[in-house]
Amino acid sequence: MERVDVAIVGGGPAGASAAERASAHGAETVLFEQGVPREDREDIGPDSTDAAGMLDYWIDIMDFDYREIPDDIIHRELAGTEFIGPNTAVELTTTGMDASYPHFGYTFHRARMDDWLHERATDAGADLRVGTSVTDLETDLRASSPNGPTHTLTLSSGEQLEAQYVVLADGPQRRVTLDALDQFTPPGRSVSDYLSPPNANHIAYQEYREFPDELFAEFEDRLKFWWGYMPGETAYPWVFPNDGTVARVGLTMPIGMELADVDTPGSYKLLEPADDQLPSGSEYISRLLELEYGDEYDIEEDIPIVEGRGKSKGTETYPISSTRPIDSPVGANIAVAGGAMGTTSAFHEGGYHVAVRSGKIAGRLAATDSLENYNEIWKRAIGDEILRNISFADIVEEYKPDDWDWAFDVVADMQGDSTENALISNRYSAGLDAMKILAAYKKRKYMYRDGKYVQLAEDDYLY
Ligand SMILES: Cc1cc2nc3c(=O)[nH]c(=O)nc-3n(C[C@H](O)[C@H](O)[C@H](O)COP(=O)(O)OP(=O)(O)OC[C@H]3O[C@@H](n4cnc5c(N)ncnc54)[C@H](O)[C@@H]3O)c2cc1C
Repeated sequence: MERVDVAIVGGGPAGASAAERASAHGAETVLFEQGVPREDREDIGPDSTDAAGMLDYWIDIMDFDYREIPDDIIHRELAGTEFIGPNTAVELTTTGMDASYPHFGYTFHRARMDDWLHERATDAGADLRVGTSVTDLETDLRASSPNGPTHTLTLSSGEQLEAQYVVLADGPQRRVTLDALDQFTPPGRSVSDYLSPPNANHIAYQEYREFPDELFAEFEDRLKFWWGYMPGETAYPWVFPNDGTVARVGLTMPIGMELADVDTPGSYKLLEPADDQLPSGSEYISRLLELEYGDEYDIEEDIPIVEGRGKSKGTETYPISSTRPIDSPVGANIAVAGGAMGTTSAFHEGGYHVAVRSGKIAGRLAATDSLENYNEIWKRAIGDEILRNISFADIVEEYKPDDWDWAFDVVADMQGDSTENALISNRYSAGLDAMKILAAYKKRKYMYRDGKYVQLAEDDYLY
């Protein structure tokens, strides 16, 4: 049987980054990526959902110098973001975080970025096998290897391969991760209790639309999010500017929610009295565009779908992780990275940066026989980002449309003339309402301090 030092399952940002670091540190490394066709890529490649926004400080979290990222990956430099509530709006022009990148952020061509990470991994010497899935993973805890447990991976070709260390980076569907980790869960508990895709993920849908120049100019350097427009925890539509005058118009919503679950359907702008079920993703987008631009434009004629983009005919549907992370069973020589471990935040869609960084750490530690430090090191490197997002997601969990209006009014007041990001600053106290938001935020952060946000801790695994 073929034998390698490090095997990686999944070739998204987490897996490719792990492969690059593991190889650069001298490990014989192989990465398996099932390979997905896309309209915007000639060959099959990773499953690059193209909803790509990057904030200034996320580049530092990725541990990249922004100058090394090739120009053709970047679509647009961003100057800010706009949060729109049912009757109010607030604009942020800074993330309020220390960052080396001199702008608010950028939008980028996701498939090109993923391909660049593949190139870097190949250049470092990793063996990337795109088009091969991993179908099973079994761990031998009592292996005679001096470095402890080893793994047998079964591939879609039917072949098997043995690896000393495994990095699971199979994204939010976790097709290999769930069973692989269940080898070490105590009786009566399963990793699916925490990370099963229907409960731990949201569904995201997006369309590529060509906008008239004058409309595109309204948001060419900003991301727009509409909160309180559709029901569901962290459910919201957005617009991200791409190249030319193409923008991605998309939304995120919980899986399996029904109209009967909505207390006050009449309060949501994207629901209609005649609805007998919740609208589909494409219906929500049509309604948003109609609401925003329908008075002056014929949506399908003036803001058409661009069919040659995305995954298929200008549209994409994806799961997005929307839960809290888990620790990895490092005692079994396994690290879980990126979306598979539950680090993406459905609160702001962000996850690319934590995927890259957790993958880099996992790859380096696997190659240097020090994987036992993984859980501690990823938390030190990116734990605050996760703590912030989880705390915010918790606060807004029960928000109804009126609450969003209230919160945005408060944030606008808090900002005053300042450019500081009031959302995460505690230097402002614009009255009782502001203090209420800050107190709720601090309480959540305290509750989840010192890594208490993990759903499954390292000690919970049995070896
Ligand atoms: C609609 C949407 C919008 C988003 N917007 C943003 C954004 O603006 N900014 C941001 O930072 N993040 C964003 N994210 C989140 C970001 O896409 C994820 O956090 C990131 O892709 C996670 O990277 P990953 O490598 O962990 O997983 P993925 O990117 O999901 O990669 C997993 C890879 O594993 C492969 N794979 C799966 N199973 C197997 C198997 N058994 N064998 C071999 N290969 C396998 C898949 O084909 C895939 O390529 C968005 C996500 C969605 C869905």
